[in-house]
Amino acid sequence: MPEPNMNFRKGAKVWVEDKHLAWVPAEITDCRGKQVQVQIGSGKTVLALPEKLFPRDADEEEEHGGVDDMTKLTYLNEPGVLYNLQRRYALNDIYTYTGSILIAVNPFTKLPHLYNVHMMEQYKGAPFGELSPHVFAVADVSYRAMMNEGRSQSILVSGESGAGKTETTKLIMQYLTFVGGRAAGDDRTVEQQVLESNPLLEAFGNARTVRNDNSSRFGKFVEIQFDANGRISGAAVRTYLLERSRVVQITDPERNYHCFYQLCASGKDAEKYKLGHPSHFHYLNQSKTYDLEGVSNAEEYMKTRRAMDIVGISHEEQEAIFRTLAAILHLGNVEFSPGREHDSSVVKDQKSTFHMQMAADLFRCDVNLLLATLYTRTIQTREGSIVKALDCNAAVASRDALAKTVYARLLVDKINISVGQDPNSHVQIGVLDIYGFECFKHNSFEQFCINFANEKLQQHFNEHVFKMEQDEYKKEEINWSYIEFIDNQDVLDLIEKVTYQTDSFLDKNRDYVVVEHCNLLASSKCPFVAGLFPSPPEESSRSSYKFSSVATRFKQQLQALMETLNSTEPHYIRCVKPNSSNRPQKFENLSILHQLRCGGVLEAVRISLAGYPTRRTYSEFVDRFGLLAPEFMDTSYDEKRLTEKILQKLNLQNFQLGRTKVFLRAGQIGVLDSRRAEVL
Ligand code: ADP
Ligand code: MG
Repeated sequence: MPEPNMNFRKGAKVWVEDKHLAWVPAEITDCRGKQVQVQIGSGKTVLALPEKLFPRDADEEEEHGGVDDMTKLTYLNEPGVLYNLQRRYALNDIYTYTGSILIAVNPFTKLPHLYNVHMMEQYKGAPFGELSPHVFAVADVSYRAMMNEGRSQSILVSGESGAGKTETTKLIMQYLTFVGGRAAGDDRTVEQQVLESNPLLEAFGNARTVRNDNSSRFGKFVEIQFDANGRISGAAVRTYLLERSRVVQITDPERNYHCFYQLCASGKDAEKYKLGHPSHFHYLNQSKTYDLEGVSNAEEYMKTRRAMDIVGISHEEQEAIFRTLAAILHLGNVEFSPGREHDSSVVKDQKSTFHMQMAADLFRCDVNLLLATLYTRTIQTREGSIVKALDCNAAVASRDALAKTVYARLLVDKINISVGQDPNSHVQIGVLDIYGFECFKHNSFEQFCINFANEKLQQHFNEHVFKMEQDEYKKEEINWSYIEFIDNQDVLDLIEKVTYQTDSFLDKNRDYVVVEHCNLLASSKCPFVAGLFPSPPEESSRSSYKFSSVATRFKQQLQALMETLNSTEPHYIRCVKPNSSNRPQKFENLSILHQLRCGGVLEAVRISLAGYPTRRTYSEFVDRFGLLAPEFMDTSYDEKRLTEKILQKLNLQNFQLGRTKVFLRAGQIGVLDSRRAEVL
């Protein structure tokens, strides 16, 4: 974001690049020749290219608190944005606006005073921007827009793992149930069900990772439905792209999904299913981390059960869900050794036979059928079907595929419940909590889907930001065709991202669901298990593999999500992870800058720079720059006219005079400021 027309002179305050801190404040001490000499805080002087410097407002730094909206910065540039966040974070002001986008920096410490009922009351109905930036303000503005305009809204929460997306989503839900709830009392009100869907989803979809003890391994879109009086009348949760590989494969110090450890610690239930300590189960003991700091697996089990009660999962279904989890754990302990025939396998020993029997019993299916499913595969040929034996590796892969398929179905079909959908609801507020770009160790396919989703969402974001800018110009009745003409290419480059390659990648990448697995489980005597696999998948002509759904279904889901989002009014929250050690009061510049770039915050700034990044009300402008044209000050000119006179006197061009504000091109405020510094 080079700032054109920057007026470099001796004594000017600037930002200069730094290897460790990204940017440091400096002052120009000499500006002869191609490079300028700047002095940084320590007294050290360095040489820098003028185009690598950014102007800095020294006045702003003296007000240590920073500004609550980036657009209020005198110089809207990358270092200014970064340092503003840093100053605020130091005071635990974790929220900052960039126009209507909310940036939330994870405090990694409890800030209860920020989220109590008193706070919710404060934000209820308060004009946006009047109170300090807050997630409640975004939730409130969405609620009011929905009520006033009768239009559905969506709040998109993004950020890297551990940045605080899920906590933010929960706060939004808490606020919406506050403004749209009925009087307290019955546990089973819709809003209580909405809130309790969180611990339930977390038990089945969250796990410990190196970055976050409670990392969500799926994306979710929670739709909260409202009636005509603005009362919550229903809710639906859609989940996306569960990380399936985690069910069968983990590395220290990560964990499998929380629910497995909860079940192992459940006492009587664990005994009933012949479970024991997690260290006895292959799917859990690949990592030696079984416990989470400050968390009791047994207590969490009770909480999950309670959440299931509230959400309305019957005791019978609850029993079936945990029985299925136990079956998965036993299944994972089945090992194979080479069979007598070439490339065949048999269950390894008595221990494996025991677990095999347990798994079959718990799935309520025939043990011989389970066995056959694991170490043979039926291949369809023109002459008929042939049963082919699988070697040990293939049998293990088949076992793991079965475990993943069952688990994913469980989450999507059973846990991903609809909390009393309201067919009469016309409006809703959707909250999207979806992981950002991330590197997965094991599953490049999942990673790819996530990046694909992120690209789509980023595109949506850029379009939105661009539109917001245009709306502001329209509201102020200024002529913005100028920017279209001059800078549109820049903006278009931002909006068109490369999606073709990703599309073809998705098509090529196939993820299989094995027909035998589906048939096996569909044959279960337990209606719950059989119900997870309602219709046996069609047999394809050549093999018993079926091109699954994972890639195609994800594309359809994403398409549907984008359509939903496009029909709503979006609101954006960008979560930022301030450091990699999950510690409070630690602000790591380089990584934060990287996140601001990836999350599109700096893109938004760029889009704004392509137009008229600086806006000042006429009175603000005259207050600050009136001294540049004292000869006009005593005249009868109004503030708008005075503003124009001042700008003309300085020979500035292409600014725009709106109804209530003056709009300046990038760099113009710098010229004004340096003239002001000379006069002062
Ligand atoms: P993400 O969903 O982005 O991976 P989480 O929402 O799970 O991240 O947040 C990770 C951790 O950060 C939480 O478990 C919590 O300890 C802390 N955290 C996040 N947001 C807040 C907040 N607003 N206040 C206090 N702690 C928070
Ligand atoms: Mg999360």
